[in-house]
Amino acid sequence: MRKFSAEKLVVATHNQGKLEEIARLMQPFGISTVSAGELGYDEPEETEDNFIGNARIKAHYAAAKSGFPALADDSGIEIDALKGAPGVYTADWAETPNGRDFAMAMTKTWAKLEAATAAFPRTARFCCTLVLAWPDGHDEVFEGKIDGQIVWPMKGEQGHGYDPIFQPTGFGITFGEMDRWKKNEISHRADAFGKLVTGCFNA
Ligand code: IMP
Repeated sequence: MRKFSAEKLVVATHNQGKLEEIARLMQPFGISTVSAGELGYDEPEETEDNFIGNARIKAHYAAAKSGFPALADDSGIEIDALKGAPGVYTADWAETPNGRDFAMAMTKTWAKLEAATAAFPRTARFCCTLVLAWPDGHDEVFEGKIDGQIVWPMKGEQGHGYDPIFQPTGFGITFGEMDRWKKNEISHRADAFGKLVTGCFNA
């Protein structure tokens, strides 16, 4: 496994929330972060049909352009009764001509489960893939997940995306009802980040 030894990390995202989350995580290691958005890079098209493929596209694009290692994440929710959908298309299910509408996406998700008369519990998992890519083409891949079930109706005002209908295993509340710090401790992203730090950032 290759260790990170540069003084700067490019975060291959145009999402301010993701940048802040990663910047906070990198702080203890004295690594400064800059996002692909701040550098004025365009967003490469995510043409793969899996999380690793799309994270690789984003990470390698930013590493090659900047000359620094670059970190990208790709995430989504897989629902067993829908054969793993929406998966890499999680964000796409929320697209409307006026931007993303996650209430609509969650309503659509539940309607599909009802149409399929899916058995209970309606098991699902959030997945997060992180790719750290170097300008010479090398990369390291880390995958995180959290298991749970899809519940209805939507509950909770916290979090984002599909959080109001995802209840993690071992909890009686949805991610939407969970304190942010608690979610960040147990989430798919926390799982993947833990593996990244152990693999590439610790001596
Ligand atoms: P990405 O930004 O292309 O990786 O899109 C991932 C999509 O998955 C997001 O737009 C969210 O809809 C969904 N997603 C990923 N992580 C979470 C989460 O922690 N809570 C709720 N939704 C999530």
